[in-house]
Amino acid sequence: MSNFLDLAGIGAGPFNLAVAALLRDKSLSHRFFEAKAEFSWHPGLMLPGAMMQTSYLKDLVTPVDPTSPCSFLAYLVENKRFYDFLHAEQRTVTRREFADYLAWAARRLDSIQMSSRVQSVVDNGEYFELDVHGPSGRERILAKNLCVAAGKKPNIPECSRPLLSDNCFHALEIALRNPDVSGKRVAVIGGGQTGAEVVINLLGKHWGRPQQVTWVSRRSNYLPLDETPFTNDWFTPEYVDVFRQLSPRRREEVVAEQKLASDGISPDTLKELYQLFYRLVHLEKDSEGVTLMPNRELVDMSSRGDYQLQLQNHLLGDTDGAEWINADIVILCTGLSEALPPCLAPLQERIPRDGEGRLLLDDSFATKLSGDDSDRRLYFLGTGRTSHGIAEPQLSLSAWRAAQVVNDLHGSTVYDNQQSGNLMKWITPQAQQIAVA
Ligand SMILES: Cc1cc2nc3c(=O)[nH]c(=O)nc-3n(C[C@H](O)[C@H](O)[C@H](O)COP(=O)(O)OP(=O)(O)OC[C@H]3O[C@@H](n4cnc5c(N)ncnc54)[C@H](O)[C@@H]3O)c2cc1C
Repeated sequence: MSNFLDLAGIGAGPFNLAVAALLRDKSLSHRFFEAKAEFSWHPGLMLPGAMMQTSYLKDLVTPVDPTSPCSFLAYLVENKRFYDFLHAEQRTVTRREFADYLAWAARRLDSIQMSSRVQSVVDNGEYFELDVHGPSGRERILAKNLCVAAGKKPNIPECSRPLLSDNCFHALEIALRNPDVSGKRVAVIGGGQTGAEVVINLLGKHWGRPQQVTWVSRRSNYLPLDETPFTNDWFTPEYVDVFRQLSPRRREEVVAEQKLASDGISPDTLKELYQLFYRLVHLEKDSEGVTLMPNRELVDMSSRGDYQLQLQNHLLGDTDGAEWINADIVILCTGLSEALPPCLAPLQERIPRDGEGRLLLDDSFATKLSGDDSDRRLYFLGTGRTSHGIAEPQLSLSAWRAAQVVNDLHGSTVYDNQQSGNLMKWITPQAQQIAVA
């Protein structure tokens, strides 16, 4: 296998898998390096019954290449369950099944090299030079182009950082930790989908029977994911085009306004939770067992055997809203944030960013190292929420985005990524406005 590549990929999660699937059988030499020995998709949050928040048709390939052998439908057919799947009439599938589909696709792609951590990347002026620690030792890879999709890092509130331990941890690893919460007071911090799933599993005694569960959310209530039709139009290539025309400041504002289109709790999960609380309080007469605290932000924490959490109740205003709770276990469901992998540290200074530190990516999700006048491309997937909009960290447009990357690499339209235009007239072109005036 050659160590000179047209494209090297860092990470083989769903975003780079989509690129690998679309590059299959194409002439460009490529390899994707994945640190894990076996494919897994967020195994630490693979909680019983967890459902996908996007359609299975938004898989690795279908939106741009529906006849690809890596589609979700091909997976169903190969696994001999197409008809049973249809008869189950599911709008979305479990995360477990989607993870199994991704693992199946990864196994079909020769370009995925597991057990291979990219330790560092340097620029030798002509190639990206990767130091890869793989199953048979170290490998030096020279790649003309690089595609980075190495995931995000857990968001830990400042005040919790010094206290991280077996009893105070981010939820990203909860299914692997399997904490014993029997007889403990548990505080769950964060009112998004992960917080909701953790609370359901705590109350379902998945990790033992807790003495008490307190669920703290900064939001004004346990707010739903907006997955209605017009909102879904924000997750289209056309909308990305429009979003790209906005000023950086306006993009930030728009992404903040649209938060619940990507970060709310699935309506089915909310209903399940409410019914669970109803049974607990009214039928099992255990009103002490669960406390719901929306509007509260965790602002400080200390530890003296157990944990003391200071909350700010924003409903009461900033001056007199201080409240305290105690807990034996604190589970931080505080989300993930964009981050570049440490292996890119040698290039860090040369990756173009704006004054606010945001990556400057073009329409093909690419940038160039500063001072590089060659035609090498450096792609970043999943890190452009403020450059490409709220769909960027999600699966919704990952096949379309992968096609943008593949077309850009080839310098031609390998995949016809043009859409016919959707129903919404997001902005009126300048020429039409002048005509009316
Ligand atoms: C629990 C959970 C559920 C989600 N559900 C949905 C959903 O239903 N719908 C939706 O649209 N989005 C969902 N998302 C958001 C998003 O789709 C996923 O986070 C998705 O996994 C992002 O893909 P990725 O390939 O960028 O990153 P990841 O899946 O995190 O994969 C990155 C990979 O890179 C590897 N890696 C990192 N550094 C290196 C290195 N130096 N060398 C080699 N390999 C490296 C890692 O081992 C990892 O396998 C969910 C996110 C989470 C956390």
